[in-house]
Amino acid sequence: MQPEAFDDISNRQEDSEYFSSIPEGYVKGKTKFVITLGTVMSGLGKGIFSSSLAKLMKFKGLKISPIKFEGYLNIDSGTLNPYRHGEVFVLNDGMETDMDLGTYERFLEQDLSANNFTTNGQLFTNILKKEREGKYLGRDIQFIPHVTGEIKLLLRQLAMKSEADVVFVEVGGTVGDIENSHYIEAMRELAYEEGKENVAYLCLTYVLEPAFLGEQKSKAAQLGIKTLMEKGIHPDIVACRAVNEVTEKVKQKISITANVKTSKVFSAHDVKNLYNIPVAMKEARIDEALVDLLSLNDRVNLENEKNELEKWNQFIETTKTEKVITVGITGKYTGLRDSYASIIHALEHAGYANNVKVNIRWIDTTNESNIEEQLKNLDGIIVPGGFGKRGIEGKIACIKYARENNLPYLGLCYGFQMALVEFARNVCNLEADSEEVNPNAKDNVICLLPEQYEIEGLGGNMRLGEFEIDVKENTKAFELYGETLIKERFRHRFECNPKYVEIFENNGITFSGKKHDIMKILELPNHKFFVGTQAHPEFKSKPSKPSSLYLGFVKACID
Ligand code: GLN
Repeated sequence: MQPEAFDDISNRQEDSEYFSSIPEGYVKGKTKFVITLGTVMSGLGKGIFSSSLAKLMKFKGLKISPIKFEGYLNIDSGTLNPYRHGEVFVLNDGMETDMDLGTYERFLEQDLSANNFTTNGQLFTNILKKEREGKYLGRDIQFIPHVTGEIKLLLRQLAMKSEADVVFVEVGGTVGDIENSHYIEAMRELAYEEGKENVAYLCLTYVLEPAFLGEQKSKAAQLGIKTLMEKGIHPDIVACRAVNEVTEKVKQKISITANVKTSKVFSAHDVKNLYNIPVAMKEARIDEALVDLLSLNDRVNLENEKNELEKWNQFIETTKTEKVITVGITGKYTGLRDSYASIIHALEHAGYANNVKVNIRWIDTTNESNIEEQLKNLDGIIVPGGFGKRGIEGKIACIKYARENNLPYLGLCYGFQMALVEFARNVCNLEADSEEVNPNAKDNVICLLPEQYEIEGLGGNMRLGEFEIDVKENTKAFELYGETLIKERFRHRFECNPKYVEIFENNGITFSGKKHDIMKILELPNHKFFVGTQAHPEFKSKPSKPSSLYLGFVKACID
């Protein structure tokens, strides 16, 4: 029998105050929900803690599906400045998301889709579309029940589509923000409707340790948790971010404020290696607490858990290597780690698989005169994705240096395009440029393809998401991928101009990956490792399955 709350919402009438957010065929209790919320301040790493806990649940053989709720009004992350907001992460289906989705994909080693990500922009677009279609039956559309209803509907649809045992929900921003308050309210309603045994709340908070006091202070954390409780949400587990391990005393104080036993107050202090977080959570038995809270005991596969933990620990062992290589990545500005998160992780994965740590040196390309100086003692160079003119000549100078000095080079998207511009200028003697940088150049070796022109007219979209690449046999790319048909993710507008392909090939470039007349991978056969790709292979790299091109690049850097 359904508890009262659920009965009520299933029978919502036109003239009642309810708005049904139950999709047809939905079975309550089949999917459980874990809601991660942040207090005190943003930037605590909700994504990492939520995905670490999700990973522990996955180890137990449970099916997991994460979702991130964003508070901004943009439809997706595609229009956000990566230097402000972190990298734009692209999913297989072309959805441009927040970098946290990258964390989920890498930690869970699982591909996600547009169903795993929403923004206020998407939410309100849906609601306004329904309003125009007359779906609200003459009602004035309100935050409660309509906006909160739409949020719960999304979650239940995800539960049904993914058939997950547990959906992990990360509410973006901090408790107290206006832009996520309807998400929080919806999450409060969710527990009432689904039953408390089907919803758990994980609250991330921050314990201060000011240098002038030299001790941990819990007041800000307590106030943050209180703000959450004022919204009707009682945390089940509290994870305390802190510089140092959180003391028992602080845990006790938080326990009293939050009505959470100290055994469920977890010290999430700074660690050098993020991959240790799931292990630390396991040691603190947070996973067991969650299984109990959600009555998941009979779905747990202990054998699976044992094997997966063993594999994870083996992976962590590889991260302890002492050997180091140094790779230069072109890029200026602060906040680079977030703007290039996937590249850094892909290098990390490929490094560990090759038994080395990859140290990164950022190369400022806005001043061309000191490029050679900056490239000294590097083991390899990456020119990553980018847009526009800024620092472009410096990037080209780096590529020239790598090509002429047999230094391993990996060009990613813009880095592929710039490698072609460099080669066209300095080997083929063309007055070459990319249409994006100089539309009036004599030889636009990089241009918009006709199909992209059409899309441009409709609003400037890019080629986004996963596409096939035919890989040519007897090439470096084939040696690395080991297959003639592969898939990588893309995010670009411009491509190699087909008019110049023959000239490039006659002068020594091999296009080892293409699809029809679109060139997707280039290489120089006589170089130690000179590979460019129009794709972003870093988006698909996982700890246990590093990207093939990154593996080849790192190996060449070691050699
Ligand atoms: N600016 C280039 C383009 O639009 C490359 C894009 C990228 O590097 N992601 O095609």
